[in-house]
Amino acid sequence: MQPTDLIIFGASGDLSARKLFPALYHLSGCELLPESFRIAAVARDDVQTDAFLSRLKERMQSAINHTHWSEERWTKFASYFTYIKADFSDAKNLNALSKWLDDTRVSLFYLATPPSLFAPICDNLSSADCLTGDCRIVLEKPIGEDLASSEKVNETVGRYFPEGSIYRIDHYLGKETVQNLLVLRFANRFINAQWDQSCIDHVQITVAETVGIEGRWSYYDKVGQLRDMVQNHLMQLLCLVAMEPPNSMSAESIRDEKVKIVKALRPIDVDTVADHVVRGQYGQGWSQGLSVPSYTEEEGCTNPESDTETFVAIKAHIDNWRWAGVPFYLRTGKRLPEKMTEIVITYKKLPHNIFSGGDNIPNSLVIRLQPNEGIEMKMVAKKQTLKDKLGLVTHDLNLDFLGSSEMNRIPDAYERLFLDAINGDQSLFVGRSEIEESWRWCDTLIRACQLQNIQAKQYHAGSWGPAKAELLIEKDGRSWHE
Ligand code: NAP
Repeated sequence: MQPTDLIIFGASGDLSARKLFPALYHLSGCELLPESFRIAAVARDDVQTDAFLSRLKERMQSAINHTHWSEERWTKFASYFTYIKADFSDAKNLNALSKWLDDTRVSLFYLATPPSLFAPICDNLSSADCLTGDCRIVLEKPIGEDLASSEKVNETVGRYFPEGSIYRIDHYLGKETVQNLLVLRFANRFINAQWDQSCIDHVQITVAETVGIEGRWSYYDKVGQLRDMVQNHLMQLLCLVAMEPPNSMSAESIRDEKVKIVKALRPIDVDTVADHVVRGQYGQGWSQGLSVPSYTEEEGCTNPESDTETFVAIKAHIDNWRWAGVPFYLRTGKRLPEKMTEIVITYKKLPHNIFSGGDNIPNSLVIRLQPNEGIEMKMVAKKQTLKDKLGLVTHDLNLDFLGSSEMNRIPDAYERLFLDAINGDQSLFVGRSEIEESWRWCDTLIRACQLQNIQAKQYHAGSWGPAKAELLIEKDGRSWHE
């Protein structure tokens, strides 16, 4: 690995403490970082490196399971750091960083900051002469809030970094199970051969959260669940399920196939939106045994009449040969009963059931990203009893990653993504055209909701969303996976 410098803008933020630094700590512990590696932690607190590190140590100790913590590992990890104080909106502030950088090494700029700072940071890096040598940039979501603003961000960043040096993060792509989905599909003939409309009845993708908006009312109210979750995470999962086999595992091949899927998504417009989209907003209720307020009673609420959705369910169609007639049901929401992300592929029933002892039960494949990453194939088998000769029962064929690997923990998505960015591998990062096409589709849907006045229906916090979300799928004779 080439000598590498990682420059984290927003090093004092929540994402850095909870995800980025713990991921780097684990990579360092597993000796997966380059031999020559430095971290510049950039933020605007007026502190020295030692003070920054002692605060970081406290925060990381609560983020990392104590069984994986060791003083020896921490000492090695801490030795990578230099803290640099800077206000990112001013080029003069980046002079200290410019002096620290070394153009014989790879510079990986990681923007863990509000997206409004992406453009000023790029402008200021350039003005402060920081962009010499092999420079790469990592951007956190969101990239824009609609097609026009995402094009603007992409254009600004593109002025300083070529597409091959831009790493747009969707951390779902770094999850082991998501990569396993690709292996499952493209390394197993029997799965691959039955992955189309002739065998699959429908697909469900659920991203459920128990949390509310966590003190981010003013941010969230402008965005809503559709822009915050569907445009990126659910769209990426849909693409990986639906795309054709790429020619290779190169970033270009994977991106080419994903973007074809986004372009083949049937637009949901004013004529179809009422039958294809349900919006919801949580009211008062219970979460994890505690009474919780409604969305418009959350701290920081400035508009008690807000119609922003905290839940959305969508029935989508992909207009291509493979997926003709196969609905993709997507749902995501806050204050739902459990924290859970899963993809469920439900196969078609057999044309005829010859077993009198049970129903014609369809197979299904459940790909679970959280809470416990894993893949289950639900198979039909004979009941183990002498009484009921041809009784049928469903069994799970389980791919339990933790149990079957040599690891004592599943690596966090950010570990994979850091490693790939350091190695210059963009295959698990999102390309510009995918993001923009995804916004194009979401913009049409959002506009259609506005024109048809599809309002957010109230649901009790702790429930699975408004009753209309059940109807969306039940009217097709199907039900959400329990
Ligand atoms: P955060 O806690 O608000 O941290 C933002 C960081 O940026 C802080 O270090 C803040 O420094 C710094 N900052 C803001 N304006 C600055 C300026 N003008 N000059 C210098 N520093 C400045 O936010 P976060 O939760 O870490 O999220 C960061 C980004 O990641 C956001 O875009 C968010 O959407 C995205 N993201 C976050 C998560 C997550 O789990 N947190 C998940 C996915 C994506 P101060 O402390 O001095 O204000």
